[in-house]
Amino acid sequence: MQNQFQVRKEMCDVGYRIWHRGYCAGNEGNHSVRISDDRVLCTPTGVSKGFLSPDQITVVDMDGRQIDTQNKMKRTSEVLLHLQIYKARPNVKSVVHSHPPHATAFAMANIPIPEGIHPEAEVFLGKVPMARYTTPSYKELGESVVALIGPDTNTVMMGNHGSVCFDATLIGAYYKLEILDAYCRILLLTRQLGKINTLTQQEMIDLLKVKERFGMPDRRLSCATGGCIGSENQPFLATFDTYSQSACACRSDGRVEAADSTAISEDAFEAMVQQMTDQIMAGLA
Ligand SMILES: [Zn+2]
Repeated sequence: MQNQFQVRKEMCDVGYRIWHRGYCAGNEGNHSVRISDDRVLCTPTGVSKGFLSPDQITVVDMDGRQIDTQNKMKRTSEVLLHLQIYKARPNVKSVVHSHPPHATAFAMANIPIPEGIHPEAEVFLGKVPMARYTTPSYKELGESVVALIGPDTNTVMMGNHGSVCFDATLIGAYYKLEILDAYCRILLLTRQLGKINTLTQQEMIDLLKVKERFGMPDRRLSCATGGCIGSENQPFLATFDTYSQSACACRSDGRVEAADSTAISEDAFEAMVQQMTDQIMAGLA
């Protein structure tokens, strides 16, 4: 078991990774570790997560009162969100809140993180709910997040804000953050390619069974045969230029594909050639 200094050190190391990977700019973001029934270590307010030192980490009780009053640093106001998650899920021992750019883009556009597409995301994140926007540091922020947390939830997006990941360990919560942003980056790159395939119903059922065997039960397994997975994918799929709802339906094999994804109209081709020509000419000028 780690002593408190080791936990503080690990919080600094994780903070550095969060900052270095661009998940938080300036003083954004916060993370915490629950070290006992009534004590939580949390990052201070007003400090870059890339430059934390162990002595700056603050201590709060489960009501959010700062215990280490001699500490010059003040606890983050968003620790209230963390505490509400700890209360809702006693098996959670660490919470990481960040603004990872690729994932947060989905929150800005109010597009739910799609599911049934990427095995890694399905196994390690599962369904990622999207909470409505509420003012940061207000109690309502935590309430809107906690209302969406099920027994298998480990990541929630917050509308127009960012992500919150939680796990039994700090490293586990941080990995969720990495996987979330990598997944969303892949989705945005896929969008540039113009077409996307989703996993079939059977492929998802097989995947969730494997996940369960790994010791990570997923509630969706019970409703997967009824088509519950991907039921909220429509806003993301609709961002594909070639996707049209009327032309796109689940194919006989259950796969969803953007309609006419390989076809490009003559007008669009002409416009593309013209655009490239203009760019080349502008470069020569
Ligand atoms: Zn925030």
